[in-house]
Amino acid sequence: MKTSRWKSLARSWAGILAALIALIAAVWLLSMHIHTRRILPVEKALVDSLKEKAKTDVEVQKILQPELDRQHESFVKRQNAYDRGGLVLLISAGIFFAWFRWLRPERGAWVGVPAGMQRYLDKLSAEHTHGRCCPAAQCKALIRYHILDSCIGCGLCADACAEGAIEARPGEQHEVIDGLCTSCGTCVTVCPEDAIEEA
Ligand code: SF4
Ligand code: SF4
Repeated sequence: MKTSRWKSLARSWAGILAALIALIAAVWLLSMHIHTRRILPVEKALVDSLKEKAKTDVEVQKILQPELDRQHESFVKRQNAYDRGGLVLLISAGIFFAWFRWLRPERGAWVGVPAGMQRYLDKLSAEHTHGRCCPAAQCKALIRYHILDSCIGCGLCADACAEGAIEARPGEQHEVIDGLCTSCGTCVTVCPEDAIEEA
């Protein structure tokens, strides 16, 4: 029992942590990029001025090479940092998308995740799912439902929907709330008028 709770906890947080790491890596890479854009012209100007002076000044010639070495070293460090940061961003973003697509807990199965965050992720998932449609109406995750004009407003579908995705409007045509519907199909089976259709 305890092991299963730990598993659920790890599954709930895996993608959220991956998203956080990806975000931190992206912000870090962006700040490095901005910093480099500000610093590079200054360093280049310094070397150009040293080169100019070195033509006539032996002392300046002595400090030019160390400055060139320092700049080269700094370039290599920056390059390595970009590579590592980019790799972390790529891997963590990949983990997040895989988790979101295949491993994210079902609604109500979250463990240790704040309710507001759960709602946001469930909503994001619903929008993701319903932003597309399955022309063959075969992929459950991509099926949307809508209620036809023949609806008599009996409310049976609203009563049967465990997700609260159909608001009860006695006597009026009902409507499916796409953001909440999980495409379970229960409403279709209870409608006496066959007024709920897959899209
Ligand atoms: S398909 Fe399921 S979740 Fe969607 S409205 Fe019908 S009963 Fe509710
Ligand atoms: S069960 Fe069918 S007829 Fe009744 S409210 Fe729902 S869609 Fe309309």
